[in-house]
Amino acid sequence: MTDFIFDVHHVARDLDRSLIVRCPHCQDVLGIEGIELDEVQGEQYQCHRCDGWLEVSSDARMIKGELPANKGDPEA
Ligand SMILES: [Zn+2]
Repeated sequence: MTDFIFDVHHVARDLDRSLIVRCPHCQDVLGIEGIELDEVQGEQYQCHRCDGWLEVSSDARMIKGELPANKGDPEA
């Protein structure tokens, strides 16, 4: 686990309409607080699985379907 806060560029909706992102550290999908995309842009969240931090990018966009894998740790 790394303390680095990664940007996340994709947000999707779960079946219950909650917002989800893919953790850049462990690639797990986690729910985040917020109803609309513009509420979560620029917000930081901690992964419940690996305790890694992520920030939803200010230019993140909503996607339909599967969240793509993201960059992970550049040091790894
Ligand atoms: Zn994680």
